[in-house]
Amino acid sequence: MELINHHMHTLASDGKHTPLEMAEEALKRGLNFICFTDHNHRIYAVPFSKPLSESHLNEIKEAQKKFKGKLDISLGIEIDWTEEHQEIFKKQISEHNFDFILGSVHLLNDGTEYFGVNYAPEVFSEKVKKLGIKKIVHEYYHQVRLLAKSKLFDCLAHFDLIKNFNVDSSFFDEQDNFYREEVLKTLDEIKKNNLCIEINTSGIIYRCKAMFPSFWILEEAHKRNIPITIGADAHWKERIDAGLLEAYDLARKAGYKEILKFKNRKAIKVKFAKTDFPRKLQTSHKENFENSSKKTGIIQNSLK
Ligand SMILES: [Zn+2]
Ligand SMILES: [Zn+2]
Repeated sequence: MELINHHMHTLASDGKHTPLEMAEEALKRGLNFICFTDHNHRIYAVPFSKPLSESHLNEIKEAQKKFKGKLDISLGIEIDWTEEHQEIFKKQISEHNFDFILGSVHLLNDGTEYFGVNYAPEVFSEKVKKLGIKKIVHEYYHQVRLLAKSKLFDCLAHFDLIKNFNVDSSFFDEQDNFYREEVLKTLDEIKKNNLCIEINTSGIIYRCKAMFPSFWILEEAHKRNIPITIGADAHWKERIDAGLLEAYDLARKAGYKEILKFKNRKAIKVKFAKTDFPRKLQTSHKENFENSSKKTGIIQNSLK
């Protein structure tokens, strides 16, 4: 079985370690495949955003050489979708030989300015007061659908990031018709445009204390034959394998038998089976996961 982490950050964006440090840790913890997905250069916002430097790219090449045969390393990028900057993204994608293009929606425009859907709870609450939660949820999934239609991407990151501040369903209930309709419509658009989605384990340490997407969404994705990959969205090396085994387990429970990894923008299927999980879970991850399932109830059934 191949243990894959398809989503991580380094010092090239808002991560805390170099590619070599991340790769060394991945190898130490028994991973077989990693993909670096630093944030794209957001010319229009956000201080940490910068172009990928030659020295960064060289270090990835060095790591690929150093760990050849032991750890497979891909070069990807996480592009922060905003409807008006598509031409910039096309240029950024053409600048390097990326193996993988990950698209995400972190920023929404409220008519006058961009705000982050997962950055600061006060800002999110203020925008909900101004626009109403239905409008924000609609705008979020509308942007995800436009991202899918753009055909620039291989995969959508953290499908339901909009739930991050929805602690104890304080803004919406995921079973509400309006929410379900937005999600299902978005899954249909993703299928139509041949995108894959990821199980992103980082939510277990964020406010929502749950993986992205919620389990019912993963089941709906499986019904539509939408392929998946798995990413820890690790920003420091200690999280390089956080929640990965739980994510494989969730995938299996949703009906999946394989996940994807990417090379040269081509998807490669990697099969897995229940018997493929001999490794003991690390306590901290297990605790994180159990806490999260208690709080949300959403993934509780899948822990057995
Ligand atoms: Zn992201
Ligand atoms: Zn990320």
